[in-house]
Amino acid sequence: MGGAVAIGALGAGGWRLASAQDSDNGGGVMPASNEYLIRGGYVLTMDPALGDLSDADVHVRDGQIAAVGASIDAPDATVIDAGGMLVLPGLVETHWHMWTTMLRSMAGDVPEHGYFPTSRGIGAHYVAEDMYASTRLSAAEAIHSGITFVHDWCHNVRDPEYAEADLRALTDTGIRARFAYGSPTGASNDSPLDMADVARLAVNWNDYSNDGLLTLGLAWRGAGTEASRQDYVAARELDLPVSVHVNNFPTSRGGIQAIEDAGMLGPHVQVIHAIWTSPEEIEALARRGASVSLSPWTELRIGFGFPITGDFLDAGIPVGLSVDTPTLTGNADMFAIMKAIQNVENSRTQDEFRLPARRVLELATIEGARSMGLEDNIGSLTPGKRADLIMVDTRALNLGVFTEPAHMLVEAAQPANIDTVMIDGRILKRDGVLTDIDVDEVIDDAQRAQAAVRERADWW
Ligand SMILES: [Zn+2]
Repeated sequence: MGGAVAIGALGAGGWRLASAQDSDNGGGVMPASNEYLIRGGYVLTMDPALGDLSDADVHVRDGQIAAVGASIDAPDATVIDAGGMLVLPGLVETHWHMWTTMLRSMAGDVPEHGYFPTSRGIGAHYVAEDMYASTRLSAAEAIHSGITFVHDWCHNVRDPEYAEADLRALTDTGIRARFAYGSPTGASNDSPLDMADVARLAVNWNDYSNDGLLTLGLAWRGAGTEASRQDYVAARELDLPVSVHVNNFPTSRGGIQAIEDAGMLGPHVQVIHAIWTSPEEIEALARRGASVSLSPWTELRIGFGFPITGDFLDAGIPVGLSVDTPTLTGNADMFAIMKAIQNVENSRTQDEFRLPARRVLELATIEGARSMGLEDNIGSLTPGKRADLIMVDTRALNLGVFTEPAHMLVEAAQPANIDTVMIDGRILKRDGVLTDIDVDEVIDDAQRAQAAVRERADWW
């Protein structure tokens, strides 16, 4: 009997049953985290001590990677056939304004329809349930696309209900995430964030963490005003990490230096874009242990400039990759993001070999996890880490022939090639189909919410 036949039957029985019984369509109760043996795949562990293993198995138990290697014996496990598949850690996303996803491709071609007027103009008319609809659409797209961790940079919390709705969407989809609490879009930088509500969430985080899948951070506005400096101090008293957009434009140089001069740079700080960053600022980031998030598609699309990826990597600064906003970029295709980051860096430095595919794949996995402070939990298929992984089916027209796997993933793969997605040992995509998310409902909900908010905002 062919492995695939037996496995298909077993696998379907295991996860479909759990899904059908436990799901209430809106989510909230996840499929069971069963014991699985992923058999016979090409495994890119992204752990330098383990390397790549061809024709190898991954054993998952209790939501963890239990073992990786050849011919693992796990008689009680549900077997998943990985023949013809690349098996690798789930892709790690490091900055995404998920509330903007339902404004997909809405940044227009004239200044009054640019990204900032659009997101601020419509975002001011959001109701709390719009946060739910857009963030659930985002998380569903993420899981479909092989992204198992997102940094939900939520800069439109108009009152506590908005944060609650956003967190509920993350919880219902089963994704792993950091929720970064931010002020309402368009708010003055002189108006303080609702730090009392941030503190309320922080002290009650056990009620929100979805069994440890979710963590909390601050979506910070930088060291420019007294109000935002106070936000920083309050967040640090709660031991929260902070993340900030800096040095986006040539005219906004010096943002990192200002944070350094205020004594606020440290390993708890992630800076985003940082295109127009001086050598002194790069040195400060490295010295303080801060990390960087790069979103090549938004940086290119809006005209910030070219990400200086290799300059950060040369300095030993952890770099993660990000979606930022589908309002500008359309989708959340992390393969395309990897390809862009490689091609821009090689072209910027006029060097075909500047950023190898393997290094780019690290940015989307273990290096991205390191940039979020999560490298002990996720980012590689290392026994003891949480079981966040994906399987990419190479039996597709855009792949088909088997060459160097990192090159295939960075240059050729697409979200449509993702066969299976597992987060924390739960199968959320199988045979190319989301198992626990009602896709039609998610889309209907987002369409309804988007039409209504455009109406309220009187937007074209
Ligand atoms: Zn951003």
